[in-house]
Amino acid sequence: MLTKSTLYVVATPIGNLRDISLRALDVLAEVDIIAAEHIHISGHLLAHHRITTKTITLHQHNESIVAEKIKALLDAEKTVAIVTDAGTPGISDPGGIIVNLLHNQGYQVVPIPGANAAICALSAAGIIHPNFLFIGFLPNKTVARKRTLETLTSLPFTLIFYEAPHRIIGCIKDLITVFGTQRQITIARELTKLFETIHRCSLGDALTWLEADSNQQKGEFVLLLTGAETIDKGIISDQAQHTLQVLLQDLPLKQAVQLAVTITGENKNSLYKQALLIKDDSIS
Ligand code: SAM
Repeated sequence: MLTKSTLYVVATPIGNLRDISLRALDVLAEVDIIAAEHIHISGHLLAHHRITTKTITLHQHNESIVAEKIKALLDAEKTVAIVTDAGTPGISDPGGIIVNLLHNQGYQVVPIPGANAAICALSAAGIIHPNFLFIGFLPNKTVARKRTLETLTSLPFTLIFYEAPHRIIGCIKDLITVFGTQRQITIARELTKLFETIHRCSLGDALTWLEADSNQQKGEFVLLLTGAETIDKGIISDQAQHTLQVLLQDLPLKQAVQLAVTITGENKNSLYKQALLIKDDSIS
């Protein structure tokens, strides 16, 4: 049962048409209007699930105009859903302008969660470090791209990028120029689709791997790059701090540090220094 005068922000699949929640299907079938980024793409999904709701077009260049239309519909006590071509609206996709405008004017906005390429890649990459930073698309041109990348070199978070097939080689080359060859990268390609590939290697090896097989340069990409080492600053995450504290209650210092390295993946020296501080505090 939907609430009148409400906008529903509905996540759709990033490939496999069955990756959509039951609630999303209910909402798409029940709303009065669906505003879709490209009607022919969403039409495929709607037809697959036998949904016949009326659609209007929503894309980046007409978001403000569509926002006005949606407002008029909500004022007439209608319900509206927005969907993009793939994944979660507003994440490197249209949606943000409409949602911002509706919130500012007191309308109700309800998220219907589901697929997102970044989170999907992260879930299967096996990255132990708990913090990440979503960058999305980098600038198209190499000079601007490198300038953006240079602002990220010291951040101790996994960096998440979206990339298109025609820019993948150029992007990896720029990543190597700015970050060197040693950082680990996960290349997540064509997630949930026939040629899904999740490849983990060093940045240096990534270029060789991609260039060895042109098929690996096709499709849609999420790139996950490990963050800067925290060794120089001795910074550890709150989670690592908590893990150390718990382990130190029952284990000798060296063993606790070793286990904390395994659990958190954080720098051994930084964890060791922190363990000494925790021990000192507990004695004084
Ligand atoms: N809103 C979407 C989301 O929630 O992830 C992102 C839309 S953005 C316009 C499209 C980009 O997302 C692609 O260029 C690619 O970088 C990434 N992407 C989308 N689907 C993907 C997939 N199946 N596999 C890998 N990357 C994907």
